[in-house]
Amino acid sequence: MPATRPTTTADNRVAIVTGSASGIGQAIKDRLARDGWNVLGVDLRDAEFVADLVDPLANRAAIEEALGRFGRIDMIVAGAGVQHVSPVETFPLERWQSMLALMLTSPFMLAQAGWPALRQCGSGRFIAIASAHSLVASPYKSAYVSAKHGVLGLVKTLALEGADDGISACAVCPGYVRTPLVERQISDQAQAHGIPEHEVIERVILAPQAVKRLIEPSEVADVVAFLASDSGRSFTGTALSMDQGWTAR
Ligand code: NAD
Repeated sequence: MPATRPTTTADNRVAIVTGSASGIGQAIKDRLARDGWNVLGVDLRDAEFVADLVDPLANRAAIEEALGRFGRIDMIVAGAGVQHVSPVETFPLERWQSMLALMLTSPFMLAQAGWPALRQCGSGRFIAIASAHSLVASPYKSAYVSAKHGVLGLVKTLALEGADDGISACAVCPGYVRTPLVERQISDQAQAHGIPEHEVIERVILAPQAVKRLIEPSEVADVVAFLASDSGRSFTGTALSMDQGWTAR
């Protein structure tokens, strides 16, 4: 008898979404819930599971919480992230370490702790909300760019390791999205580039994109919903660029 995969519908599928209290993570959580998923949102506040994901053990605890509540995990969306804009010479080491912990070690820990559950469900999905900065750099963002390049490497590795168990892994790589993470860097960018704040969006933020428009968080959620669906099953080990032509140069 050929092995059969467990039958699942969106109504009993379970996702963990980190960074669910704001911006892209919130849009993903809302979209998946509308599609019938059970979602455990994880964030520093305003979440089903409140945790500081800089702590590796908190990531394992989040996985255990989802398994305790729902008994299964079909998808992990690693979305929590922060930005810090500073020249490399003065970039605080502590900030570097916490950013790498949040945007590289947290996805690794979530994958490690969630791997048996993703294998068990038969068509597990691991999705990192990465960035155009997984593929190209910008000045003054050494930790962010390093973490985002790293998480693309993690995703590729997970795709190879998960292939025989039906687990796929992808990195969604947006350009600039209209969220508090972007709004918060306007004053730092103005200072780092020596320009007024009102010129930052046009002269710095949107400068590398061919299309001069901020992406909406719901557009990123649409891509995650597609990857989560049966139609997304052939995507693994790859970066899905949605960067308005940024990396076409
Ligand atoms: P956001 O600031 O709106 O949301 C990020 C969320 O992560 C917040 O709710 C925050 O509380 C949470 N978070 C931060 N530190 C945490 C910690 N230590 N533990 C748990 N949760 C923590 O930002 P966003 O723009 O929605 O970013 C979401 C993801 O998308 C990030 O990984 C970011 O790098 C990525 N991204 C954003 C953009 C953009 O332009 N906004 C572009 C590409 C990629």
